[in-house]
Amino acid sequence: MSEERLIPLAEPVLTGRERQYVLECLDSGYVSSAGSFVRRFEEEFAEVVGVAHAVACASGTAALHVALRLAGAGPGTAVAVPAFTFIASANAAHYTGADLLLVDSEPQTWNMNTALLRDEVITRARLGRRIPEVVEIVHVLGHPADLDPLIELRDRFGIRIVEDAAESLGATWTAGTTAGHQVGAVGEFGCFSFNGNKIITSGGGGMIVTDNGELASAARHLTTQAKLPGGGYVHDAVGYNYRLTNIAAALGTAQLECLEDRLTAKRRIAEDYRRELRRVPGIGSAPSATWANPTFWLYSALLDCDGAPDDLVAGLAKAGAVARRLWPPLHQQKPYVTCETLGSEVADRIYHRGISLPSSADMSAAEQERVIAAVERLLRAS
Ligand SMILES: *Cc1c(COP(=O)(O)O)cnc(C)c1O
Repeated sequence: MSEERLIPLAEPVLTGRERQYVLECLDSGYVSSAGSFVRRFEEEFAEVVGVAHAVACASGTAALHVALRLAGAGPGTAVAVPAFTFIASANAAHYTGADLLLVDSEPQTWNMNTALLRDEVITRARLGRRIPEVVEIVHVLGHPADLDPLIELRDRFGIRIVEDAAESLGATWTAGTTAGHQVGAVGEFGCFSFNGNKIITSGGGGMIVTDNGELASAARHLTTQAKLPGGGYVHDAVGYNYRLTNIAAALGTAQLECLEDRLTAKRRIAEDYRRELRRVPGIGSAPSATWANPTFWLYSALLDCDGAPDDLVAGLAKAGAVARRLWPPLHQQKPYVTCETLGSEVADRIYHRGISLPSSADMSAAEQERVIAAVERLLRAS
């Protein structure tokens, strides 16, 4: 009998030119941050996302840290962050020294309730109270957030927008002010991650994108120890060692060539889950707003009862598949429990009821059928 593999949650697929490009690095001797793949990855990435500039970074968290700092986040300022996100979004804001305002999700896409934030900011401004200087908007799990209320805040109050698009490369808006754009291309900065579980990977890495050439130069400067041009060791600010290596960029360049295939696979997987799980009681379907074309990076849905996700994760593990619960909201995470909050109910509910199902781009139809059959059996028995 053939051994069936453990069906993973989301693993890298390395079937393109990864080996060839990495070997080119080794043969050329350019393995560190000098070398042609860094520039090539940046240029090709900017083109794919539809922006003028891209600056490669050592991680998505590093990209966010630099972008937030350049957008004005720092001691004495406040950054609005969604309560429901991976903790790196909050950490990057915290590194700048800013205070965090944790904003609840909206139920349709699970992203930050930007209308709630807009109304709150307008009220606070009228009362002469402090308003956030920066909004770090996260597009969670492959679904774009509704940016229109934030664009209103930007235009009325000068609030700056940084997009955390780490999980959502390739997702687009299809209606509204942002129609036709990809996530990451609308805010002053967009940030991406190439961690191993993301839609494309460079082993580890990130990218800052912006249409503003001066901001791109400033970002490049901060990621390279704020060293001034010329041969000397002269620095004009406290910078970071956040540059991507050429080897990582070689991997990323090869992965980027396969992005369309990955997106097609993720959307096909989502379609199959949606169709097949419709007849199963106790589970909803992944968020998909009419005004967006999400990527379904991790196919995630809500179960009907609090606590049910733990049982389903355990049951699927026994059936040979890796599922995972979603993130505890930031207001429940130890470093952020004391942060100011704007609502919390929706994020709490998503945490208590949400689950991500196996979503690897190379999952076979037979594997997905096994997952679906196991979900159905487990939920019908519960
Ligand atoms: C993965 C991720 C990050 C951080 O990216 P790294 O490359 O792991 O540092 C930031 N924000 C979100 C929403 C993420 O999912």
